Amino acid sequence: MIQWSDVVVCYEPDVRYPVNALDHVSLRVGAGEWVFFVGPSGAGKSTLLKLVYCGARATSGKIVVDDQDVTRLAAREIPLLRRKVGVIFQDFQLLAQKTVWENVAFALQVIGAPQKRLVRDVPRALETVGLTHKAGAQPHELSGGEAQRVAIARAIVNDPKILIADEPTGNLDPQTAADIAQVLRKINERGTTILMATHDRALVDAMKNRVVRIAEGRVVSDEAQGVYHPEDDEPRSDALPTPAPPASSVISATRNSSAADATGTGAPSRVRVSVAPAPVAAAPVAPISVTPDTSVSGIAADGAARADDNAAAKARDHKAPIGSPENPIVQLERSSDNKLPHEVER
Ligand code: ADP
Repeated sequence: MIQWSDVVVCYEPDVRYPVNALDHVSLRVGAGEWVFFVGPSGAGKSTLLKLVYCGARATSGKIVVDDQDVTRLAAREIPLLRRKVGVIFQDFQLLAQKTVWENVAFALQVIGAPQKRLVRDVPRALETVGLTHKAGAQPHELSGGEAQRVAIARAIVNDPKILIADEPTGNLDPQTAADIAQVLRKINERGTTILMATHDRALVDAMKNRVVRIAEGRVVSDEAQGVYHPEDDEPRSDALPTPAPPASSVISATRNSSAADATGTGAPSRVRVSVAPAPVAAAPVAPISVTPDTSVSGIAADGAARADDNAAAKARDHKAPIGSPENPIVQLERSSDNKLPHEVER
């Protein structure tokens, strides 16, 4: 159902020592599977998942999603692909000024769904995640676990075939994380394929699902009933000695020598250049304005804008939350005219 074939992603091919975020990755995930993607921060897990909804584009290789080759999908075709793919993130990315109900409804509004679909599907999604009673709440009135449930409801309200979860329990305590896992299990049991990047050892070990291990842009293991390994927590080995670049590379490189300079050795920090989620009486079903929301500073692929206050939630990783101003993925998407489906113009 999802196939990556010999995929290379190089975000910055023009720097002096380009590094492949994904390095000739081939992998297949069948319909209805729940696969964990583990590995150190920076290993390439998010990149691998982003390829599925064209949140990142392959430098080479091929990606097939639900029998559709999405490798070179035109920008205008991406929104249709994304109706098949729900996405949730570590930092929830809820719209701060909207209620729970409105946050979930937003994912349908941006695809032009009629009001009767909102009235039918939003309560159903909220019921799935156990938040019917919170339909009228504002995001700031929610616990972390509730906020993630809203994000799940938003991601599944359009009944996608695939749910991508990038570190969904990273900001949650173990019990809340386990509760979220149960919600996801229910969704998976209904047939939704789940691809989850995670550092949650307890979750991986408890679920006994397929575990694909990524390290330095490569698939290093793929186990049917895998477990979490200690090395999956370790950062990538930037400090390892690396060979000096070939003389010809040094001579021909004329720009952006910062990667090399960071080591103080004149050699690049890493030369992986192969060169390379029942009716709701209390639900506010009144029409909701879908005019641009100026409180929004960024939009998530699951159909919701990231609110400024949620931007304060920090990833455990070395990097800023996905989609934050500090994380250049959004800039990459925009710069390649590859807008997310529910992007709000400001
Ligand atoms: P993981 O999800 O395993 O932490 P990522 O896929 O986010 O790994 O990142 C893989 C590599 O690609 C890292 O070296 C990261 O710094 C780099 N990277 C990710 N996104 C971008 C981007 N938009 N521009 C440049 N480099 C990026």
